[in-house]
Amino acid sequence: MEPSIGVLMPIPIYEGLRRELKKRFIVYKLWEAPNKSEFIKEHAHSIRAYIGTSGFGADADFINALPNLEIIASFSVGTDLIDLELCKQKGIRVTNTPDVLTDDVADIAMGLILGVLRRLCDADRYVRSGGWKSVGDYKLTTKFTGKTVGILGLGRIGEAIAKRVEGFNCPIIYHSRSEKAGVKYKYYPSVVELAANCQILVVACSLTPDNHNIVNRQVIDALGPEGVLINIGRGAHVDEHELVCALGEGRLGGAGLDVYQDEPNVPPQLLELDNVFLLHHVGSSTFETRICMTDLVITNLDAHFFHNKPLITPVV
Ligand code: NAP
Repeated sequence: MEPSIGVLMPIPIYEGLRRELKKRFIVYKLWEAPNKSEFIKEHAHSIRAYIGTSGFGADADFINALPNLEIIASFSVGTDLIDLELCKQKGIRVTNTPDVLTDDVADIAMGLILGVLRRLCDADRYVRSGGWKSVGDYKLTTKFTGKTVGILGLGRIGEAIAKRVEGFNCPIIYHSRSEKAGVKYKYYPSVVELAANCQILVVACSLTPDNHNIVNRQVIDALGPEGVLINIGRGAHVDEHELVCALGEGRLGGAGLDVYQDEPNVPPQLLELDNVFLLHHVGSSTFETRICMTDLVITNLDAHFFHNKPLITPVV
């Protein structure tokens, strides 16, 4: 049967998802439109679903411009860029892709920790540029095993990070808005206390209107000149200006970042520092996980439009 339901995609996302969507829907490719607002106006009445991402959400203006929007299926677990309250009010359903990306993001957090402490990128560059042959051994780095790791946000990803960190014989402590029942790690009721009591602070919480810049100057100073900040949550969790200053002034030992306040713009000062390890929001970017995320998006859309079944991963 010829597809008749319109789905809007903001960017190309993953080709496997595009293939599956094309089998079922008329896909409106926003990224190909020379004038995006004209394109949305032209197709507004045909669009019944929207595919969000971690970087492309749906604010009130966007949602209000699509009068027949029924569902936003986000190709991400984070839904911080979607106006969830407005969706609730308008009866627009929202889904995300939890669980299937947890392992990848936790793996990347471990990569960031080792990358910063053992200076992996710099050491790689040293070998490639011939330094080993011409100068000799690379400088000494910092041990990871046994360091105390503080996890900010002990959710799915935070717990998966903790599980991995246990393998490095590191004491684990955490802060979430509430203490978790049945969790063996020590709970700290404030982020500052958490930072003051760990050597590596890993940000793994979801972004809410209340926790922008939750890692502020006070938290960074509590972590201190030997401390390392890892962020795989969202860029807005960290006061980036304070982070850059603290790293530059030696008030913070190092940082490993997958996310930034204004992606894809990375503060240029960070690029000059050798105590940072920078990735470009690749926490869940593996072939295997993209396939699972695609399955979730498609299964949710199928349930909504074709099977009249409950959504698999509803947010709203
Ligand atoms: P989750 O299971 O919902 O966990 C989020 C945790 O954040 C919850 O345990 C919550 O605990 C905690 N939290 C929320 N607000 C907090 C606050 N103000 N202070 C401390 N903790 C707070 O979500 P998840 O699946 O683990 O994903 C977490 C986040 O990771 C996502 O929302 C997304 O932003 C990010 N992420 C990044 C990537 C990447 O590529 N880098 C990929 C996937 C996800 P309480 O409710 O007890 O406070």
